[in-house]
Amino acid sequence: MTQRDYYVILEVSRTASGNEIKQAYRALAMKYHPDRNPDDPAAEDFFKEASEAYAVLSDPDKRKQYDRYGHAAFDRTGPGFEAGDFGAVSEILEGLFGEVFSGGRRKRHGGRDLTYDLEIPFVEAALGVERKIDVNRPAPCATCSGSGAKPGTPIYNCNVCQGRAQVKYQRGLFAAARPCHACRGTGKKIPSPCDACKGTGSKMRSEPMSVKIPAGVQDGAVRTVRGAGETSPGGNGDLHINVKVTDHPLFQRDEADILVSIPISFPQAVLGASIDVPTLDGKVVMKVPPGTQSGKVFRLRGKGIPVYGGYGKGDQLVTVIVEVPQELSRRQRKLISELAQDIGDETHPQQASFLEKLRGLFDS
Ligand SMILES: [Zn+2]
Ligand SMILES: [Zn+2]
Repeated sequence: MTQRDYYVILEVSRTASGNEIKQAYRALAMKYHPDRNPDDPAAEDFFKEASEAYAVLSDPDKRKQYDRYGHAAFDRTGPGFEAGDFGAVSEILEGLFGEVFSGGRRKRHGGRDLTYDLEIPFVEAALGVERKIDVNRPAPCATCSGSGAKPGTPIYNCNVCQGRAQVKYQRGLFAAARPCHACRGTGKKIPSPCDACKGTGSKMRSEPMSVKIPAGVQDGAVRTVRGAGETSPGGNGDLHINVKVTDHPLFQRDEADILVSIPISFPQAVLGASIDVPTLDGKVVMKVPPGTQSGKVFRLRGKGIPVYGGYGKGDQLVTVIVEVPQELSRRQRKLISELAQDIGDETHPQQASFLEKLRGLFDS
């Protein structure tokens, strides 16, 4: 339950008439209804708050109690207004506005949404790909046309819920509804169930489907195909495709840039070299200038990934790692130590500068 003042929430005075309160709530409900603000939790919270305020202030007895005792008038430990109470709010709204919202709601909740996990390799994710997938999708049973009854046999209304599929009960301030257990929320009683679907009215069907994965899609992205979920006369559900991008043996990704590390030998670093670099478009030859330090990053412009949902492409960043030779023979070690004496300090400006600073630190 909210602790905000109900009059403040509905933006009405404490002397507002029943009609003014109704008008105020109607305006707020139209604005903040979850159907109009999908995926906006703030709007949903505000909608619930306004609905709670309206439930109290629209009832003369409850309003009188609230005016005297405030929120304390209602048992706060009892069932308040919680996330699961949309059934209750829908009933209030239906009473208030008729079918303004319920039509859209029912359609949205016709067929269930389905999910599909799609794994695609790094390069296909980067360049975009069209994939054929088989989706297991519940569809109305062909034998009974989705009724669940053996063809030619009758269907009765459930006698527990009178065919309404749900039963009402009191939940705190609200009349709430839950699915009828007797008919498992179908509202129907079927004496002879269809054999093909065991009376459920639907059968799983594997359906081939073509899915476009746009270039630059990220690991963990969800692509939604509207209407590709469960088929239902009340409107199909959606299909949510969870994209999993598999790792690449060489490439890593940083937004639209591709990162790759390439080892080069000590002589290549010293003398310069042309090295093969893998890119999304294939191999390219990159020049490494003489005297290249380990860790130096070269940028190949436009060789990255198309910007997802935008324009242009990222770059490829090539980090060159100088590999120090290991396990040398005696002759090789001798040659290198001769080389070291021959090179001396002057050709290592970084080291020379470091040593000078080090001396400055300890000799003073
Ligand atoms: Zn029933
Ligand atoms: Zn059937």
